[in-house]
This record gives sequence, structure tokens and C-alpha cells, in this order.
Amino acid sequence: MSEPLVVVGASVAGIRLVGTLRRYGVQTRIVVVDAEGGDPYDKPQLSKQLLLDERPTVQTLATTSSLARDRIELRMSCPATGLDPEAHVLELNGRPLPYSQLVLACGSRPRTLPSFDGVAGVLTLRTHRDAVALRTALRDRPQVAVIGGGLIGCEVAAAARALGAPVVMLEAGERLAGRVLAPEPAERLRMLHEEHGAEVRLQAAVTRARTQPIDGVERLTGIELSDGTTVPAELAIVGIGTNPVTHWLDGCGMRIAEGVCCDAALRAQDVTDIWAIGDVARWWNNDLAEYVRFEHWTGAREQAAFVAKALAGRETTSFRPIPYVWSDQYAVHIQHAGTTDGADQVEYVGNGARGRYTFSREGQVIGVTGFDDPAGVLAVRRSFRR
Ligand code: NAP
Repeated sequence: MSEPLVVVGASVAGIRLVGTLRRYGVQTRIVVVDAEGGDPYDKPQLSKQLLLDERPTVQTLATTSSLARDRIELRMSCPATGLDPEAHVLELNGRPLPYSQLVLACGSRPRTLPSFDGVAGVLTLRTHRDAVALRTALRDRPQVAVIGGGLIGCEVAAAARALGAPVVMLEAGERLAGRVLAPEPAERLRMLHEEHGAEVRLQAAVTRARTQPIDGVERLTGIELSDGTTVPAELAIVGIGTNPVTHWLDGCGMRIAEGVCCDAALRAQDVTDIWAIGDVARWWNNDLAEYVRFEHWTGAREQAAFVAKALAGRETTSFRPIPYVWSDQYAVHIQHAGTTDGADQVEYVGNGARGRYTFSREGQVIGVTGFDDPAGVLAVRRSFRR
């Protein structure tokens, strides 16, 4: 039997990839491995509805039997521990698995703050298990500090407020969700949080955790900032970005720099028959003329579809997505598509709380951010010229 096509990572990118391969009629043996146990699941609700639900449910992406029907072998609790790209051999918990083609979809892990490591009451959010732990902790309505005002921080803050917990948001940058939103919608987002009772502190530099031994455990009591003040906190959620999961590839000869470096078609560089998709991929974006790492659900699915097409032998050139992100906070549906870089005009079209900001460069619309305006955002997205 010829060597299988192997996918490392059973999250949205990996599962979408293998399903698409079968839909294209690819007959090769396929094996999907993942370090986590249980069935593969989707992540968007982990920082949103799952934190609020009395009976939290997780959206399953596939099961062993649903994949088996497509002749796809799923091996969960099976971490990839090494790779020999020249020999085309993946190592799974020390055991070799030869492959014909390899797709790395092993994602990313939350960054942490060293002085907060090991402190009781400090959590990060990435997995279902993390979400359940956070949900349980929020039920006691502790004093919450959200460190990082990105999408994780904003969504967790909204959930904590909805559950009645006091919340302080500590963002190092000048605005909330700064990696996605331009100043105007970011300011509106800040107001939304404040209207719902969250305290938002921008340009807040966190220095260390304040702790106190309680029942023999060092528990969080506050967060010290560089201006000398301390924010009281019983629960801190650290949402300060992610690191791609590449430690297991160290020394294997692949080019790794804040992700697996890929060409514009998502092929890993300096090796053959290896691709990367999702959070772990850092790929050359022809439009921006730089390497980028997309960490969003829609982008992961688009990358999976793109690589599936290439593996199926259908023609592909370069991956040229139009970025799209959505978030739900306080029952407000926020969407962002395109870019705002280099915009020379911002226009707001809206009616009360519903509306959208459109961003133009030299008369051409390049980006849109909507608040409860899916139809308006869709219309603008359709108008984007590739
Ligand atoms: P993120 O979007 O990168 O935001 C992290 C924020 O934390 C940034 O604004 C960053 O500021 C700030 N920060 C960094 N160090 C800090 C510090 N020491 N103190 C205070 N603030 C600090 O990352 P994330 O919110 O952790 O989310 C992780 C990933 O999951 C992201 O890729 C995100 O897009 C994704 N996610 C997506 C959704 C969605 O699509 N709805 C929801 C949740 C998560 P600087 O930029 O100035 O460093």
C-alpha cells in the first residue's frame, strides 16, 4: 500500500481539508492525527455562547465513524513529536509514520505572561477544556481582569459582564481589537463595553501578578501595572495573542519563523510535499508582499479548500483571500472584511446602533466593519475587487 497523506491537526482547517479532498475524488489513504482527545470540535463558540450556556455544548466537526465512512483514519490523543522531511517520515509519540504528502494544521497556543504562570485564578482560552474551566470560574462572579483587549479579551469580557461579574479590560495598545479594527470601529467597541459596565484601560502595561496564599495555594488577588497601581482581580484571563505550535519541528530542517514559512501557495519552504494551513502557517502574501499569519476561522477554512484543490491536482496559483472576521459581543454581531491599511477615507452608514464603516483608498472600497449590519457588510464584500 502506498504511504498515506497525513494531516497533523484535527481542527477546522484539517477536517475541512480532508472532507474536501474526498469531495474532489482523491482516493489516497488519509490519516488525521491530533494531540487532543475526544472528537474534533469547532472553536468559535468557546469564547462566546459556550461561556453563557447552562448546558454547554460543543460543535463537533467530525467523529471517528463519520470520517471512517469517507475512509479517513482519525487518531486522536496522538501528538506529532518529530519530523524527517527528507525521509518523508512523521514521528507520532516516538513511532514513525511514513507519508506521501503532509499537511501541517497544528494550530497555535495562547501566549502567557511568565509572572502569572502557576498562579491560581489565571486562565487562558484555547481548548474546550479551557472554556469549561473558564465557564465554571465565571459562575461565581469573581472580579475579572481581562489581560489583552483582542478578540479573546473582548468576547470573554462580554460573557463575564453578561454573567454579572465586574470586569476590567487591560489592553497594552491604543485600542481594542487593534489587530482587526481601525480606530473608528474600535472606539465604538470600547463604548459598547463601557455601556455594559466593563472598565476599559488602554495603554495599560501589566507588570506582575499580586498573589496571596489561600489554603496553601498562591491565588491571584490583583494585577500590578507599570504606573504603580494595582487592579484587584480574583480571575484573570490572559488573551495576548498566540504562538504557532512548531516546537516539535525544531531542528528538522524546515524553515520556521513565527510559524511554518510557506510560499504563496501554502507549500512549506525548503522541503517537498509539505503544506501548512491555519494558525501555524506563515505564508507569503503576494498582495501585501510580506509573510502573514492569519489566525481566523474563515481564513483557515479557505486555506484548507485551497490546499485540497492543489493536492487534488486542480490548478491553483497563489492563495489570495479577502480577510473576514466576525465576533459576537453583548448580542451585537460585529463583522470585519478586507483591510483598512492605507485607507484615505472612512464613511459611516447606519441607522441607530446598526451600521457599517467603509474604508476606501483612492476611491476604491478596501474594507468594511459592521455592527449588526450583515446585509450591508455582505453588499460591500461582494463589491471588493480582487
Ligand atoms: P490578539 O487578537 O492578537 O489580541 C491580543 C491583544 O493583546 C493585542 O491587542 C495585544 O496588543 C494585547 N497585548 C499583548 N500583550 C499584552 C500585555 N502584556 N498586556 C495587555 N495587552 C497585551 O489575540 P487574542 O485576543 O489572544 O486571540 C488569539 C487568537 O484567536 C487571535 O488570532 C484571534 O484573532 C483569535 N480569535 C478570534 C476570534 C474571532 O474571530 N471572533 C475570537 C477569539 C479569538 P498589541 O497588538 O499591541 O501587541
